Amino acid sequence: MDEFDIIARYFAPLAKDPGALGLIDDAAFIPPRPGFDLVITTDQIAADTDFFAHDPPGTVAKKALRVNLSDLAAKGARPEYYLLNLALPRSVREDWLAAFAKGLAEDQQEFGVSLLGGDTSAIEGPLSIAITAFGFVPQGRMVKRSGAKAGDAVYVTGTIGDSAGGLAIFKREKHQLRDAQRDYLTRRYQVPEPQVAFGANLSGLASAAVDISDGLVADLGHLAEASNVKIELDAEAIPRSDALRALWGDGSDAILRAATAGDDYQIAFTAPRAHATKIREAAAQAQTQVTHIGHVATGEGINLSRSGRRIAIPNSGYRHF
Ligand code: ADP
Ligand code: MG
Repeated sequence: MDEFDIIARYFAPLAKDPGALGLIDDAAFIPPRPGFDLVITTDQIAADTDFFAHDPPGTVAKKALRVNLSDLAAKGARPEYYLLNLALPRSVREDWLAAFAKGLAEDQQEFGVSLLGGDTSAIEGPLSIAITAFGFVPQGRMVKRSGAKAGDAVYVTGTIGDSAGGLAIFKREKHQLRDAQRDYLTRRYQVPEPQVAFGANLSGLASAAVDISDGLVADLGHLAEASNVKIELDAEAIPRSDALRALWGDGSDAILRAATAGDDYQIAFTAPRAHATKIREAAAQAQTQVTHIGHVATGEGINLSRSGRRIAIPNSGYRHF
């Protein structure tokens, strides 16, 4: 199979939008949409860094796509299209590609997105997948990192640290979890659950937002810096799943570990206190957990405290270099 066979057999069926031209042209087109801004993001994941080379291909596909959908959700955008750049080891097998494409097809269905194009090449090195995703937001309403104001409340969607717990289990950290708890955590590492439905309502509610990929504390630190404010977090309020609490317990070290681990793909955001009721309603409508975890103050940086006592935060956040 050469790359043209791969494209025709596995990827052209995913390119349902007329602008994709069935993946037989040099480029695709998206007609402008009056009243909306196009929001664009890209993220790359590589074997041995972001997933295990032996992971099921369908989960690898979903992770590659979902980390991008999560960025769009955090900006208040509704995702619609994506481009797929594949750098494949020459040894890749056709059944791997078939299962990979099937994973994408399932997520296209689940999230309402479709493939616009991409590039396929062979490399001497670990498999790498770069996706660029496109979404729309009402004009001028993309939720930035920079809008937080002193007095705003700080919220986070979902639960924090599950993916890190799953990774710890894959790395053979000792545990006494029930099978269902173990599977829940490892699944969260392999397949994030981006908050696409809730994100689509964010632009009227949030003053600032950030996708959590490097860790809650690190990413809220980026938001605080962009907004020129300080963020005070209540450690006990940080939402953690029963499975994660069974894995690591409830000590401050466990909370800190969850809040600094990363790969959560949840949305952390700030909002004026007057929006509290609307936020609860939007969360219920999207069937999403949204938790109030702190507040914005004047100053800079992030404080994490538990029952009034400060928890020291070591240099946090995943860094590639
Ligand atoms: P070029 O020679 O300009 O790189 P290609 O032959 O790579 O063009 O691409 C031909 C068509 O196939 C284009 O529409 C491109 O977007 C699409 N395509 C190539 N690889 C992929 C992929 N991995 N996923 C989706 N579409 C792809
Ligand atoms: Mg190409």
